[in-house]
Amino acid sequence: MLFPQPTDLTIDEPLEPVDAACPECGNEAVFKYRLVDYRGWLRVTKCRACLNVLDRVRIEPPAQGGA
Ligand SMILES: [Zn+2]
Repeated sequence: MLFPQPTDLTIDEPLEPVDAACPECGNEAVFKYRLVDYRGWLRVTKCRACLNVLDRVRIEPPAQGGA
């Protein structure tokens, strides 16, 4: 791995590396992952270096059986 594992990582979702550089700081530690806020699920693309959010998309909740 090129990037050291952050010690403050609290996300359970797997981080998906994005082949892009952060427009803010130029770092290539850009990852895409899902998260949940009070309105539901989001997929965000975020720089792990400066925490700039490159993209944020509202997504359908993951299938959890039923419905
Ligand atoms: Zn950045």
